[in-house]
Amino acid sequence: MRRVKIIATIGPKTESEAMMKKLAEAGMNIARINLSHGTHGWISETVSKIKKISSQSQFPIGIMFDTQGPEIRTSATEYGLEAGDLFKIAVSSACDIQEGEKHTFVDYQNLINKVKKNDIVMIDNGLIALKVIDIGPYHINCRVLNKGSLGKTKSINMPGIRTDLPSVTDKDIKDLRLGARLGMDYVAQSFVRRKEDILQMRKLLARLKSNAMVIAKIEDQEGVENMNEIINEADGVMVARGDLGVEIPIEEIPLVQKQMVDKCIEAGKPVIIATHLLESMITHPMPTRAEVTDVANAVFEKADCIMLSGETTKGEYPIECVSTMHRIAKSTQKRLTFNPGRGFKTKDVMEAITFGACIGAENLDAKAIIAFSRTGKLLSMVAKRRPNVDIFVFTDSKEAKRKMMIYWSAFPFLINFDENFELMTKKAIGMLQQKKFLVKGDRAIIISDVNPRKDTEILEIREI
Ligand code: PGA
Ligand code: MN
Repeated sequence: MRRVKIIATIGPKTESEAMMKKLAEAGMNIARINLSHGTHGWISETVSKIKKISSQSQFPIGIMFDTQGPEIRTSATEYGLEAGDLFKIAVSSACDIQEGEKHTFVDYQNLINKVKKNDIVMIDNGLIALKVIDIGPYHINCRVLNKGSLGKTKSINMPGIRTDLPSVTDKDIKDLRLGARLGMDYVAQSFVRRKEDILQMRKLLARLKSNAMVIAKIEDQEGVENMNEIINEADGVMVARGDLGVEIPIEEIPLVQKQMVDKCIEAGKPVIIATHLLESMITHPMPTRAEVTDVANAVFEKADCIMLSGETTKGEYPIECVSTMHRIAKSTQKRLTFNPGRGFKTKDVMEAITFGACIGAENLDAKAIIAFSRTGKLLSMVAKRRPNVDIFVFTDSKEAKRKMMIYWSAFPFLINFDENFELMTKKAIGMLQQKKFLVKGDRAIIISDVNPRKDTEILEIREI
């Protein structure tokens, strides 16, 4: 089985049920909805299609809602821009626009107080750079610095400038209310800068009665500086390289990525590497060699997930992108090795059995680790050790089962927990044998935290 999971963003090129089915067959494990685009009607329809396909698949497809967050976006205007062009950013409908004047509207009025003359404004993850030349009561006039084509609702970055937008916006609240109703599994929270941002999100989710995991997207300097407290507070982290690439010096991305992945693994929090993994495949059927190596690097770093954005929303080759990722991951993981890390000492029983399971799997050439985990806590503890085997995890909750898809090498099944541990184990192994995940003679390591006796934790080695 593939250890790294694939997240694919759903968009115009993949919104049909037939295309989503193909994405799933090619290897999509989690479907992502980017809330910066799409009406609530579209989102509801898309989610119901994902659920239908998920119910027909061997393993569930997790559903991720990615917030717009405190982000400034252009309006629906589209232009071909040339270096030297004048471009007006209007912050209010009170701004008058002359006939033929290239412009866009943004719904952040205070922008005029945040930028100064000569500041640089970037559109679409840095593809178009503008320089501020003058500021009026309802607009900013800019000079276009490089040729580019401006599409609809593109993000605007102003590196180094702090906006006073709330971390969770009114739009986010509306979008997540819908997500809570539709049963989203993960919220990817955009532009998390400190742990308080996550606490605010948690408060909102509690109010909406959602148990969704909060995945903090780290995408600017402040987020990078506070990565420790963010990793500590969040349920998972996304290395959001799209925005990071314009918000911090681009050459720092590889080190920041490596640092974040290592820290997340250490903390047992799932980590996602996002943006530009197969960017050239938006228009080409084959990736660049550098992109292939970038995907492989994410596998070597042992990230939990790799993510596709534009590649699967607007690209010409969405299915090929997923299957290409799958093939690179399968090929690269042959070289992965289990690394027990520094000497391990613990008084924590769960740490001891999960680490013991990984050591056992490695030394005894086990085919799999079988984990009985109610909520996913035990799974997260075993997955963080990155054992080089499949982790088949059994839970009695459909919701927990979907959430488990985000963890490295985790393949969840539904089971009714049984007082009789032997019976439950037999049933689980029977299911795995029936699906040919295990065959006679294979060795499996079994761990459980759903035991008949409260004072017993289980770590077992079995031959099928
Ligand atoms: P986005 O986030 O695609 O929502 O901007 C990911 C990133 O910035 O890399
Ligand atoms: Mn982003």
